[in-house]
Amino acid sequence: MRQPTDPSIRAEPRSPDGLLLAGGQLATGQVVDVRLHGLKIEAVGAPGTLPPAAEHLDLSGYLLLPAPAEPHAHFDTALTADRIPNPTGDLAGAVQAWLDYQGSVPRDDFVRRATEAALLGLANGATAIRTHVGIYETVGVKAVEALLEVRQALRDLIDIQLVALNVRLTGPECKELRALLRAAVEMGADVVGGCPHLDPDPAGYHSLVLSLAAEFGRPIDLHTDETLDPAVLHLSQLADLVAEAGFPHGVTASHCVSLGVQPPEVAAQVAARVAASRVAVVCNPQTNLFLQGRGQRSTPVRGLTALRALLDAGATVAGGGDNLRDPFNVVGRADPLETASLLVTAGHLTPEEAYAAVSVGARAAMGLAELRVEAGFPGELLAVRASSLGEAIAGGTSRVVIHHGRVVSRTTVTRDYPGVNGTVLASHPPP
Ligand SMILES: [Zn+2]
Repeated sequence: MRQPTDPSIRAEPRSPDGLLLAGGQLATGQVVDVRLHGLKIEAVGAPGTLPPAAEHLDLSGYLLLPAPAEPHAHFDTALTADRIPNPTGDLAGAVQAWLDYQGSVPRDDFVRRATEAALLGLANGATAIRTHVGIYETVGVKAVEALLEVRQALRDLIDIQLVALNVRLTGPECKELRALLRAAVEMGADVVGGCPHLDPDPAGYHSLVLSLAAEFGRPIDLHTDETLDPAVLHLSQLADLVAEAGFPHGVTASHCVSLGVQPPEVAAQVAARVAASRVAVVCNPQTNLFLQGRGQRSTPVRGLTALRALLDAGATVAGGGDNLRDPFNVVGRADPLETASLLVTAGHLTPEEAYAAVSVGARAAMGLAELRVEAGFPGELLAVRASSLGEAIAGGTSRVVIHHGRVVSRTTVTRDYPGVNGTVLASHPPP
């Protein structure tokens, strides 16, 4: 930490540069100044103790947090709910509705919606987003091309990772789909994805994906066990396969819904194997609350993975927003704090655990560097107008987002309460 009494600063006064964030409160309650330079946090100190910077931002009244990341989005399907109905409301209905529709989507439409979804996530604080993108026969690699264009156009604002995904992959009838998956990776998709539980041969699917990812040196992120059927539990097989293969590029299993309906002892055993194999698990509470348990009129299940068993086992647990106003989830706000809120209410995590899932856990699942509000760590921060983590998760709407050491998004909410005879009520706390 560089203090103003540091003789090197006195001896060599520099012209101010960088960004000074003044008076923000850390999650611990401590109020600090943070000085950013280049891509990193240069110093953190007591208010008024750091050298001036070219830019100065007063963050009094704001909570200063390591920025969240979005580990599971779907930019290609985002913002289509009003044009693509899902008559059954479940996963099968959503998949079919999208497959029937996506071939007719022009490339520009993919670009426009993906851009909007990315900027929405950024405004909410996600400075890195991993989005899946479908490569089915009818759409080919059109959506991949469009999302690669968006990744490039927004590269100074947000780190975007693309996961190429097929529903089916094995058997002679899927030869073209396998070729499309390979083509997507060759074009620049960052991660090899898929949905083994929707394929008739999940074990064969795992082998194909591991082999392709190993060939290209890419991570894997698979939609895994997105079902309430307890007999479907491919997660344990994936963990064993990864452990045996010693796959070094990073493996993430998204959803893992059926782990949440196992008896506690089975969940604990599988969670231990997941932790030992270093497979990260992404829970997507909103989409799975929307899709799962539709037929149950009484005490519907929640559709979330076994969060507590995974945390107890020491596994990497992340929280994702998943679908944004599409046939898989007709609502959604692309907001990591909304995901954290659902992890608290539906997943029974503490606010601290929930925020860790959408920040450090999410970044770990994405293979990104750890964040802390400490000198030397990346300049990826979220300031939320709130006085505690719980208050921020509950509804902190005014936000400042810092990426690569500079402000990339600012949302300020103003609220009026017109009183009687036009008198504006004062003394309400700001949002
Ligand atoms: Zn998904």
